[in-house]
Amino acid sequence: MIPVRGFENQKIAVFGLARSGLTAARALKAGGAEVVVWDEKLTACEAARAEGFALEDLASADWSQLKGLVLSPGVPLTHPKPHWTVEKARAAKVEILGDVELLARTVAAAPTFKRPKIVAVTGSNGKSTTTALIGHVCRQAGRDVRIGGNIGVGVLDLEDMHGGAIYVLELSSYQLDLTSTLKADVAIILNISPDHLERHGGMEGYVAAKRRILLNQGKGDTAVIGVDDTWCQQICTEITAANRRTIVPISARRAMGRGVYALQGVLYDAMGDRVVEVADLASARSLPGRHNWQNAAAAYAAGRALGLSPEDAAEGLMSFAGLAHRMETVGAIGKVRFVNWIAGGQAKAGGIEELADLFGVVAKAYLIGEAADAFARTLEGKVPCVKSGVMEAAVRAAYADAKASGEEAIVLLSPACASFDQFTDFEDRGEAFRAAAQGLAQVAAPRSQGAVTRAAGGAGRA
Ligand code: ADP
Repeated sequence: MIPVRGFENQKIAVFGLARSGLTAARALKAGGAEVVVWDEKLTACEAARAEGFALEDLASADWSQLKGLVLSPGVPLTHPKPHWTVEKARAAKVEILGDVELLARTVAAAPTFKRPKIVAVTGSNGKSTTTALIGHVCRQAGRDVRIGGNIGVGVLDLEDMHGGAIYVLELSSYQLDLTSTLKADVAIILNISPDHLERHGGMEGYVAAKRRILLNQGKGDTAVIGVDDTWCQQICTEITAANRRTIVPISARRAMGRGVYALQGVLYDAMGDRVVEVADLASARSLPGRHNWQNAAAAYAAGRALGLSPEDAAEGLMSFAGLAHRMETVGAIGKVRFVNWIAGGQAKAGGIEELADLFGVVAKAYLIGEAADAFARTLEGKVPCVKSGVMEAAVRAAYADAKASGEEAIVLLSPACASFDQFTDFEDRGEAFRAAAQGLAQVAAPRSQGAVTRAAGGAGRA
Protein backbone atom coordinates (compact mmCIF):
# COMPACT_ATOMS: atom_id res chain seq x y z
CA MET A 1 0.00 0.00 0.00
CA ILE A 2 1.09 3.58 -0.59
CA PRO A 3 0.36 5.84 2.42
CA VAL A 4 -1.15 9.07 1.10
CA ARG A 5 0.82 12.23 1.93
CA GLY A 6 -0.44 15.78 2.05
CA PHE A 7 -3.56 15.27 4.18
CA GLU A 8 -1.98 14.69 7.60
CA ASN A 9 -4.46 15.52 10.39
CA GLN A 10 -7.04 16.75 7.90
CA LYS A 11 -10.56 15.42 7.75
CA ILE A 12 -11.32 13.63 4.49
CA ALA A 13 -14.54 11.89 3.49
CA VAL A 14 -14.50 8.83 1.27
CA PHE A 15 -17.73 8.09 -0.57
CA GLY A 16 -18.23 4.78 -2.39
CA LEU A 17 -16.78 1.88 -0.46
CA ALA A 18 -16.09 -0.65 -3.18
CA ARG A 19 -12.52 -1.77 -3.75
CA SER A 20 -10.87 1.52 -4.72
CA GLY A 21 -12.77 3.51 -2.08
CA LEU A 22 -11.74 1.22 0.74
CA THR A 23 -8.16 1.20 -0.49
CA ALA A 24 -8.18 5.02 -0.57
CA ALA A 25 -9.55 5.11 2.99
CA ARG A 26 -6.81 2.76 4.20
CA ALA A 27 -4.05 4.64 2.38
CA LEU A 28 -5.27 8.01 3.71
CA LYS A 29 -5.42 6.64 7.24
CA ALA A 30 -1.93 5.17 6.90
CA GLY A 31 -0.70 8.61 5.83
CA GLY A 32 -2.19 10.29 8.91
CA ALA A 33 -5.47 11.74 7.63
CA GLU A 34 -8.62 11.71 9.70
CA VAL A 35 -10.88 9.58 7.54
CA VAL A 36 -14.66 9.27 7.56
CA VAL A 37 -16.46 6.99 5.14
CA TRP A 38 -19.94 6.61 3.69
CA ASP A 39 -21.85 4.59 1.12
CA GLU A 40 -25.49 4.31 0.14
CA LYS A 41 -25.25 0.56 0.66
CA LEU A 42 -25.61 -0.51 4.25
CA THR A 43 -23.51 -3.66 3.77
CA ALA A 44 -20.61 -1.59 2.42
CA CYS A 45 -20.83 0.74 5.44
CA GLU A 46 -20.90 -2.20 7.84
CA ALA A 47 -17.84 -3.76 6.22
CA ALA A 48 -15.94 -0.47 6.55
CA ARG A 49 -17.02 -0.05 10.16
CA ALA A 50 -15.88 -3.61 10.93
CA GLU A 51 -12.47 -2.59 9.59
CA GLY A 52 -12.33 0.27 12.06
CA PHE A 53 -13.40 3.22 9.89
CA ALA A 54 -15.65 5.94 11.25
CA LEU A 55 -18.95 6.17 9.39
CA GLU A 56 -20.37 9.62 8.79
CA ASP A 57 -23.67 10.16 7.02
CA LEU A 58 -22.60 12.68 4.37
CA ALA A 59 -26.22 13.72 3.82
CA SER A 60 -26.28 15.36 7.25
CA ALA A 61 -22.53 15.96 7.83
CA ASP A 62 -20.97 19.37 8.51
CA TRP A 63 -19.15 19.81 5.20
CA SER A 64 -17.27 22.88 6.41
CA GLN A 65 -15.09 20.51 8.47
CA LEU A 66 -14.04 18.51 5.42
CA LYS A 67 -10.82 19.12 3.52
CA GLY A 68 -11.66 16.78 0.68
CA LEU A 69 -14.15 14.32 -0.77
CA VAL A 70 -12.66 11.18 -2.29
CA LEU A 71 -15.09 9.78 -4.84
CA SER A 72 -15.07 6.40 -6.44
CA PRO A 73 -14.85 6.70 -10.26
CA GLY A 74 -18.22 4.98 -10.60
CA VAL A 75 -20.02 7.96 -9.03
CA PRO A 76 -21.31 10.50 -11.60
CA LEU A 77 -19.40 13.77 -11.36
CA THR A 78 -21.25 15.80 -13.98
CA HIS A 79 -23.55 13.60 -16.11
CA PRO A 80 -26.24 12.40 -16.37
CA LYS A 81 -26.36 14.65 -13.30
CA PRO A 82 -23.92 15.30 -10.47
CA HIS A 83 -24.27 12.92 -7.55
CA TRP A 84 -25.68 14.55 -4.37
CA THR A 85 -22.29 14.26 -2.65
CA VAL A 86 -20.76 16.22 -5.54
CA GLU A 87 -23.36 18.96 -5.15
CA LYS A 88 -22.77 19.18 -1.43
CA ALA A 89 -19.00 19.28 -1.89
CA ARG A 90 -19.26 22.04 -4.49
CA ALA A 91 -21.60 24.09 -2.33
CA ALA A 92 -19.18 23.83 0.59
CA LYS A 93 -16.13 24.38 -1.70
CA VAL A 94 -14.70 21.02 -0.67
CA GLU A 95 -12.22 19.60 -3.15
CA ILE A 96 -13.27 16.43 -5.00
CA LEU A 97 -10.53 13.90 -5.71
CA GLY A 98 -10.02 10.34 -6.92
CA ASP A 99 -7.49 7.72 -5.86
CA VAL A 100 -5.17 8.58 -8.77
CA GLU A 101 -5.10 12.19 -7.56
CA LEU A 102 -4.16 10.98 -4.08
CA LEU A 103 -1.28 9.06 -5.63
CA ALA A 104 -0.24 12.11 -7.69
CA ARG A 105 -0.03 14.28 -4.56
CA THR A 106 1.93 11.59 -2.75
CA VAL A 107 4.42 11.28 -5.59
CA ALA A 108 4.81 15.07 -5.78
CA ALA A 109 5.40 15.26 -2.01
CA ALA A 110 8.03 12.51 -2.06
CA PRO A 111 11.75 13.31 -1.94
CA THR A 112 13.52 12.66 -5.25
CA PHE A 113 15.04 9.35 -4.13
CA LYS A 114 11.54 7.99 -3.49
CA ARG A 115 9.83 9.41 -6.56
CA PRO A 116 9.05 6.70 -9.14
CA LYS A 117 8.54 7.20 -12.85
CA ILE A 118 4.89 7.35 -13.86
CA VAL A 119 3.61 5.98 -17.15
CA ALA A 120 -0.10 6.74 -17.62
CA VAL A 121 -2.12 5.00 -20.32
CA THR A 122 -5.55 5.90 -21.63
CA GLY A 123 -7.58 5.51 -24.81
CA SER A 124 -10.96 4.13 -25.81
CA ASN A 125 -9.52 0.70 -26.64
CA GLY A 126 -6.35 -1.19 -25.85
CA LYS A 127 -5.61 0.38 -22.46
CA SER A 128 -5.23 -2.89 -20.54
CA THR A 129 -3.25 -4.58 -23.28
CA THR A 130 -0.87 -1.64 -23.62
CA THR A 131 -0.47 -1.24 -19.87
CA ALA A 132 0.34 -4.92 -19.44
CA LEU A 133 2.62 -4.80 -22.48
CA ILE A 134 4.62 -1.86 -21.16
CA GLY A 135 4.90 -3.65 -17.83
CA HIS A 136 6.20 -6.73 -19.57
CA VAL A 137 8.64 -4.82 -21.79
CA CYS A 138 10.13 -2.98 -18.81
CA ARG A 139 10.30 -6.10 -16.67
CA GLN A 140 12.08 -7.99 -19.46
CA ALA A 141 14.59 -5.16 -19.56
CA GLY A 142 15.25 -5.66 -15.85
CA ARG A 143 13.28 -2.71 -14.49
CA ASP A 144 11.22 -2.73 -11.30
CA VAL A 145 7.68 -2.26 -12.60
CA ARG A 146 4.26 -2.07 -10.93
CA ILE A 147 1.01 -2.17 -12.87
CA GLY A 148 -2.29 -0.87 -11.59
CA GLY A 149 -5.19 1.53 -11.85
CA ASN A 150 -8.07 0.40 -14.01
CA ILE A 151 -6.28 -2.95 -14.43
CA GLY A 152 -5.45 -5.35 -11.61
CA VAL A 153 -5.05 -3.51 -8.33
CA GLY A 154 -6.00 0.08 -7.52
CA VAL A 155 -3.13 2.59 -7.66
CA LEU A 156 -2.91 3.00 -3.88
CA ASP A 157 -2.74 -0.77 -3.42
CA LEU A 158 0.56 -0.91 -5.31
CA GLU A 159 3.76 -1.50 -3.41
CA ASP A 160 5.21 1.61 -1.80
CA MET A 161 7.38 3.82 -3.94
CA HIS A 162 11.09 4.09 -4.52
CA GLY A 163 13.05 6.13 -6.97
CA GLY A 164 13.97 3.24 -9.27
CA ALA A 165 10.44 1.96 -9.76
CA ILE A 166 8.20 2.48 -12.76
CA TYR A 167 4.45 2.69 -12.16
CA VAL A 168 2.42 1.88 -15.25
CA LEU A 169 -1.14 3.07 -14.68
CA GLU A 170 -4.18 2.34 -16.78
CA LEU A 171 -6.53 5.30 -16.41
CA SER A 172 -10.15 5.44 -17.50
CA SER A 173 -11.89 8.66 -18.47
CA TYR A 174 -13.80 8.50 -15.15
CA GLN A 175 -10.56 8.34 -13.20
CA LEU A 176 -9.04 11.15 -15.24
CA ASP A 177 -12.02 13.36 -14.48
CA LEU A 178 -11.07 13.07 -10.80
CA THR A 179 -7.37 13.76 -11.38
CA SER A 180 -5.82 17.23 -11.68
CA THR A 181 -2.16 17.26 -10.58
CA LEU A 182 -0.83 14.00 -12.01
CA LYS A 183 2.38 14.64 -13.90
CA ALA A 184 3.12 11.62 -16.06
CA ASP A 185 6.70 11.10 -17.18
CA VAL A 186 5.14 9.26 -20.11
CA ALA A 187 1.48 9.88 -20.97
CA ILE A 188 -0.21 7.81 -23.66
CA ILE A 189 -3.49 8.37 -25.48
CA LEU A 190 -3.90 5.39 -27.78
CA ASN A 191 -7.07 6.28 -29.62
CA ILE A 192 -10.43 7.94 -29.12
CA SER A 193 -13.81 6.73 -30.33
CA PRO A 194 -17.27 7.50 -28.92
CA ASP A 195 -17.67 5.73 -25.56
CA HIS A 196 -19.31 6.38 -22.17
CA LEU A 197 -20.81 9.55 -23.62
CA GLU A 198 -23.70 9.54 -21.15
CA ARG A 199 -21.21 10.04 -18.31
CA HIS A 200 -19.32 12.88 -20.00
CA GLY A 201 -22.24 14.79 -21.48
CA GLY A 202 -21.10 14.06 -25.05
CA MET A 203 -17.98 13.69 -27.14
CA GLU A 204 -16.45 16.98 -26.08
CA GLY A 205 -16.54 16.02 -22.40
CA TYR A 206 -15.14 12.58 -23.15
CA VAL A 207 -12.21 13.95 -25.18
CA ALA A 208 -11.56 16.57 -22.50
CA ALA A 209 -11.36 13.80 -19.86
CA LYS A 210 -8.86 11.84 -21.96
CA ARG A 211 -6.75 14.94 -22.53
CA ARG A 212 -6.33 15.39 -18.80
CA ILE A 213 -3.68 12.67 -18.90
CA LEU A 214 -1.39 15.27 -20.53
CA LEU A 215 -1.90 17.90 -17.84
CA ASN A 216 1.16 19.19 -16.00
CA GLN A 217 3.65 17.59 -18.38
CA GLY A 218 6.70 19.65 -19.17
CA LYS A 219 10.24 19.46 -20.42
CA GLY A 220 11.69 15.98 -20.06
CA ASP A 221 8.25 14.33 -20.21
CA THR A 222 6.90 12.42 -23.18
CA ALA A 223 3.43 12.34 -24.71
CA VAL A 224 2.68 9.35 -26.94
CA ILE A 225 -0.39 9.93 -29.10
CA GLY A 226 -2.04 7.53 -31.55
CA VAL A 227 -2.86 9.61 -34.60
CA ASP A 228 -5.14 7.15 -36.39
CA ASP A 229 -8.36 8.94 -35.44
CA THR A 230 -9.37 12.56 -35.88
CA TRP A 231 -9.81 13.35 -32.17
CA CYS A 232 -6.30 12.20 -31.31
CA GLN A 233 -4.91 13.88 -34.42
CA GLN A 234 -6.34 17.14 -33.19
CA ILE A 235 -4.86 16.66 -29.71
CA CYS A 236 -1.48 15.90 -31.27
CA THR A 237 -1.57 19.03 -33.40
CA GLU A 238 -2.61 21.20 -30.51
CA ILE A 239 0.03 19.97 -28.09
CA THR A 240 2.70 20.10 -30.78
CA ALA A 241 2.04 23.79 -30.94
CA ALA A 242 2.62 24.03 -27.18
CA ASN A 243 5.85 22.08 -27.73
CA ARG A 244 7.47 21.80 -24.33
CA ARG A 245 7.55 18.07 -23.94
CA THR A 246 8.67 15.36 -26.32
CA ILE A 247 5.79 14.25 -28.51
CA VAL A 248 5.79 10.86 -30.18
CA PRO A 249 2.98 10.29 -32.69
CA ILE A 250 2.23 6.62 -33.27
CA SER A 251 0.31 4.98 -36.08
CA ALA A 252 -0.70 1.50 -37.18
CA ARG A 253 -1.96 2.83 -40.50
CA ARG A 254 0.64 5.02 -42.15
CA ALA A 255 4.29 5.91 -42.32
CA MET A 256 5.25 9.19 -40.68
CA GLY A 257 8.22 11.49 -40.93
CA ARG A 258 8.61 11.35 -37.18
CA GLY A 259 7.29 8.91 -34.57
CA VAL A 260 6.72 5.18 -34.30
CA TYR A 261 4.57 3.28 -36.75
CA ALA A 262 3.63 -0.22 -37.78
CA LEU A 263 2.92 -1.21 -41.36
CA GLN A 264 1.95 -4.75 -42.36
CA GLY A 265 3.15 -5.90 -38.98
CA VAL A 266 6.60 -4.33 -39.18
CA LEU A 267 7.36 -1.80 -36.45
CA TYR A 268 9.40 1.23 -37.48
CA ASP A 269 11.19 3.66 -35.18
CA ALA A 270 11.28 7.06 -36.89
CA MET A 271 12.06 9.05 -33.76
CA GLY A 272 15.66 9.73 -34.73
CA ASP A 273 17.39 10.88 -37.90
CA ARG A 274 16.66 7.74 -39.82
CA VAL A 275 13.90 5.17 -39.95
CA VAL A 276 14.83 1.87 -38.32
CA GLU A 277 12.91 -1.40 -38.61
CA VAL A 278 12.76 -2.60 -35.00
CA ALA A 279 10.36 -5.55 -34.78
CA ASP A 280 8.42 -8.04 -36.87
CA LEU A 281 5.13 -7.93 -34.97
CA ALA A 282 3.53 -10.43 -37.33
CA SER A 283 5.58 -13.10 -35.59
CA ALA A 284 4.94 -11.84 -32.05
CA ARG A 285 3.16 -14.48 -29.93
CA SER A 286 0.24 -12.40 -28.73
CA LEU A 287 -0.13 -9.21 -30.73
CA PRO A 288 -2.28 -10.20 -33.72
CA GLY A 289 -4.06 -7.54 -35.70
CA ARG A 290 -3.59 -3.90 -36.54
CA HIS A 291 -5.16 -2.78 -33.26
CA ASN A 292 -2.41 -4.61 -31.39
CA TRP A 293 0.23 -3.01 -33.58
CA GLN A 294 -1.01 0.33 -32.31
CA ASN A 295 -0.61 -0.96 -28.75
CA ALA A 296 2.87 -2.27 -29.58
CA ALA A 297 3.94 1.05 -31.12
CA ALA A 298 2.82 2.83 -27.94
CA ALA A 299 4.63 0.35 -25.70
CA TYR A 300 7.80 0.64 -27.75
CA ALA A 301 7.68 4.44 -27.62
CA ALA A 302 7.10 4.31 -23.85
CA GLY A 303 10.01 1.92 -23.37
CA ARG A 304 12.32 4.22 -25.32
CA ALA A 305 11.12 7.25 -23.35
CA LEU A 306 12.00 5.36 -20.16
CA GLY A 307 15.54 4.90 -21.41
CA LEU A 308 15.36 1.37 -22.80
CA SER A 309 17.52 0.59 -25.82
CA PRO A 310 15.68 -0.01 -29.11
CA GLU A 311 16.59 -3.70 -28.80
CA ASP A 312 15.22 -4.05 -25.27
CA ALA A 313 12.08 -2.07 -26.07
CA ALA A 314 11.38 -4.28 -29.08
CA GLU A 315 12.34 -7.59 -27.48
CA GLY A 316 9.60 -7.51 -24.83
CA LEU A 317 6.95 -7.07 -27.52
CA MET A 318 7.85 -10.42 -29.00
CA SER A 319 7.59 -12.41 -25.76
CA PHE A 320 4.38 -10.82 -24.40
CA ALA A 321 1.90 -13.57 -23.47
CA GLY A 322 -1.27 -11.50 -23.94
CA LEU A 323 -4.20 -10.97 -21.60
CA ALA A 324 -7.16 -13.25 -20.92
CA HIS A 325 -10.43 -12.41 -22.77
CA ARG A 326 -8.64 -10.61 -25.60
CA MET A 327 -8.77 -12.96 -28.55
CA GLU A 328 -8.24 -15.88 -26.22
CA THR A 329 -8.99 -19.41 -27.43
CA VAL A 330 -10.96 -20.87 -24.54
CA GLY A 331 -11.32 -24.31 -26.07
CA ALA A 332 -12.08 -26.54 -29.05
CA ILE A 333 -14.33 -29.48 -29.88
CA GLY A 334 -13.43 -31.30 -33.07
CA LYS A 335 -13.23 -28.72 -35.84
CA VAL A 336 -14.91 -25.99 -33.80
CA ARG A 337 -12.80 -23.51 -31.87
CA PHE A 338 -14.19 -21.14 -29.22
CA VAL A 339 -12.56 -17.71 -29.11
CA ASN A 340 -13.29 -14.94 -26.64
CA TRP A 341 -12.83 -11.62 -28.30
CA ILE A 342 -14.50 -8.91 -26.37
CA ALA A 343 -15.23 -6.11 -28.68
CA GLY A 344 -24.40 -8.51 -26.03
CA GLY A 345 -25.33 -6.04 -23.58
CA GLN A 346 -25.79 -2.31 -24.02
CA ALA A 347 -24.82 -1.01 -27.44
CA LYS A 348 -22.02 1.53 -27.53
CA ALA A 349 -22.62 4.72 -29.51
CA GLY A 350 -22.43 3.95 -33.21
CA GLY A 351 -23.50 0.31 -32.66
CA ILE A 352 -21.95 -2.29 -34.94
CA GLU A 353 -22.29 -0.37 -38.20
CA GLU A 354 -18.61 0.39 -38.33
CA LEU A 355 -17.92 -3.35 -38.41
CA ALA A 356 -19.86 -3.69 -41.68
CA ASP A 357 -16.71 -4.51 -43.66
CA LEU A 358 -16.38 -7.67 -41.59
CA PHE A 359 -19.93 -8.94 -41.96
CA GLY A 360 -18.89 -11.11 -44.91
CA VAL A 361 -16.85 -13.44 -42.71
CA VAL A 362 -19.71 -14.08 -40.29
CA ALA A 363 -21.75 -17.23 -41.09
CA LYS A 364 -24.40 -16.44 -38.50
CA ALA A 365 -24.83 -14.16 -35.50
CA TYR A 366 -26.33 -15.24 -32.17
CA LEU A 367 -27.50 -12.18 -30.32
CA ILE A 368 -27.91 -11.74 -26.58
CA GLY A 369 -28.65 -8.87 -24.24
CA GLU A 370 -30.27 -5.47 -24.53
CA ALA A 371 -28.61 -4.68 -27.85
CA ALA A 372 -30.01 -7.74 -29.65
CA ASP A 373 -32.83 -5.87 -31.43
CA ALA A 374 -30.64 -3.01 -32.58
CA PHE A 375 -27.92 -5.36 -33.81
CA ALA A 376 -30.49 -7.53 -35.61
CA ARG A 377 -31.69 -4.45 -37.52
CA THR A 378 -28.12 -3.58 -38.58
CA LEU A 379 -27.43 -7.16 -39.67
CA GLU A 380 -30.71 -7.61 -41.56
CA GLY A 381 -30.18 -8.77 -45.13
CA LYS A 382 -26.41 -9.02 -44.56
CA VAL A 383 -25.83 -11.69 -41.92
CA PRO A 384 -28.31 -14.40 -40.86
CA CYS A 385 -29.00 -13.94 -37.19
CA VAL A 386 -31.04 -15.27 -34.30
CA LYS A 387 -31.80 -13.85 -30.89
CA SER A 388 -30.55 -16.32 -28.32
CA GLY A 389 -31.31 -14.34 -25.17
CA VAL A 390 -28.53 -15.60 -22.96
CA MET A 391 -24.91 -16.71 -23.35
CA GLU A 392 -25.39 -20.44 -22.78
CA ALA A 393 -28.15 -20.72 -25.41
CA ALA A 394 -26.12 -18.64 -27.89
CA VAL A 395 -22.99 -20.80 -27.52
CA ARG A 396 -25.01 -24.02 -27.73
CA ALA A 397 -26.83 -22.93 -30.90
CA ALA A 398 -23.64 -21.64 -32.53
CA TYR A 399 -21.83 -24.90 -31.78
CA ALA A 400 -24.70 -27.00 -33.16
CA ASP A 401 -24.69 -25.03 -36.44
CA ALA A 402 -20.89 -25.07 -36.69
CA LYS A 403 -20.75 -28.81 -36.11
CA ALA A 404 -23.52 -29.48 -38.63
CA SER A 405 -21.60 -27.57 -41.29
CA GLY A 406 -18.81 -30.16 -41.01
CA GLU A 407 -16.28 -27.45 -41.68
CA GLU A 408 -13.64 -25.78 -39.56
CA ALA A 409 -15.37 -23.01 -37.66
CA ILE A 410 -14.83 -20.48 -34.94
CA VAL A 411 -17.48 -19.64 -32.36
CA LEU A 412 -16.45 -16.09 -31.54
CA LEU A 413 -17.61 -14.10 -28.55
CA SER A 414 -17.49 -10.61 -30.00
CA PRO A 415 -20.00 -8.48 -28.14
CA ALA A 416 -19.09 -4.97 -29.46
CA CYS A 417 -20.90 -3.86 -26.41
CA ALA A 418 -20.75 -3.13 -22.69
CA SER A 419 -21.66 -6.07 -20.47
CA PHE A 420 -23.55 -4.57 -17.59
CA ASP A 421 -27.08 -5.58 -18.51
CA GLN A 422 -26.42 -9.30 -17.93
CA PHE A 423 -23.03 -9.50 -16.24
CA THR A 424 -21.01 -7.75 -13.56
CA ASP A 425 -18.28 -6.87 -16.06
CA PHE A 426 -16.65 -8.05 -19.27
CA GLU A 427 -14.58 -10.64 -17.41
CA ASP A 428 -17.72 -12.15 -15.93
CA ARG A 429 -19.15 -12.28 -19.47
CA GLY A 430 -15.96 -13.90 -20.77
CA GLU A 431 -16.12 -16.49 -18.01
CA ALA A 432 -19.77 -17.25 -18.91
CA PHE A 433 -18.60 -17.89 -22.48
CA ARG A 434 -15.78 -20.11 -21.26
CA ALA A 435 -18.18 -22.04 -18.99
CA ALA A 436 -20.68 -22.54 -21.82
CA ALA A 437 -17.94 -23.86 -24.12
CA GLN A 438 -16.61 -26.16 -21.43
CA GLY A 439 -20.12 -27.42 -20.68
CA LEU A 440 -20.51 -28.44 -24.31
CA ALA A 441 -17.11 -30.12 -24.28
CA GLN A 442 -18.05 -32.23 -21.32
CA VAL A 443 -21.12 -33.50 -23.14
CA ALA A 444 -19.06 -34.11 -26.27
CA ALA A 445 -16.09 -35.65 -24.43
CA PRO A 446 -17.15 -39.34 -24.43
CA ARG A 447 -17.41 -39.27 -28.23
CA SER A 448 -14.76 -36.80 -29.29
CA GLN A 449 -11.19 -36.49 -28.20
CA GLY A 450 -11.15 -32.72 -28.39
CA ALA A 451 -12.00 -31.70 -24.87
CA VAL A 452 -11.97 -27.99 -24.22
CA THR A 453 -8.65 -26.86 -22.88
CA ARG A 454 -7.45 -23.44 -21.85
CA ALA A 455 -5.25 -21.75 -24.40
CA ALA A 456 -1.60 -21.89 -23.51
CA GLY A 457 -1.18 -18.20 -24.26
CA GLY A 458 -4.12 -17.10 -22.14
CA ALA A 459 -2.36 -15.56 -19.17
CA GLY A 460 -4.52 -14.04 -16.45
CA ARG A 461 -4.72 -10.31 -15.94
CA ALA A 462 -1.41 -8.89 -14.88
P1 ADP B 1 -9.40 -1.53 -22.77
O1 ADP B 1 -8.59 -1.77 -21.54
O2 ADP B 1 -9.20 -0.13 -23.33
O3 ADP B 1 -10.83 -1.89 -22.65
P2 ADP B 1 -8.17 -3.96 -23.81
O4 ADP B 1 -6.71 -3.90 -23.91
O5 ADP B 1 -8.77 -4.68 -22.64
O6 ADP B 1 -8.79 -2.49 -23.91
O7 ADP B 1 -8.72 -4.61 -25.14
C1 ADP B 1 -10.12 -4.86 -25.28
C2 ADP B 1 -10.44 -5.18 -26.72
O8 ADP B 1 -10.33 -4.00 -27.48
C3 ADP B 1 -9.51 -6.18 -27.38
O9 ADP B 1 -9.97 -7.51 -27.24
C4 ADP B 1 -9.55 -5.77 -28.82
O10 ADP B 1 -10.68 -6.33 -29.44
C5 ADP B 1 -9.78 -4.30 -28.76
N1 ADP B 1 -8.53 -3.49 -28.86
C6 ADP B 1 -7.37 -3.67 -28.18
N2 ADP B 1 -6.47 -2.73 -28.54
C7 ADP B 1 -7.08 -1.92 -29.43
C8 ADP B 1 -6.69 -0.77 -30.18
N3 ADP B 1 -5.47 -0.24 -30.04
N4 ADP B 1 -7.60 -0.23 -31.02
C9 ADP B 1 -8.83 -0.75 -31.16
N5 ADP B 1 -9.27 -1.84 -30.52
C10 ADP B 1 -8.41 -2.43 -29.66
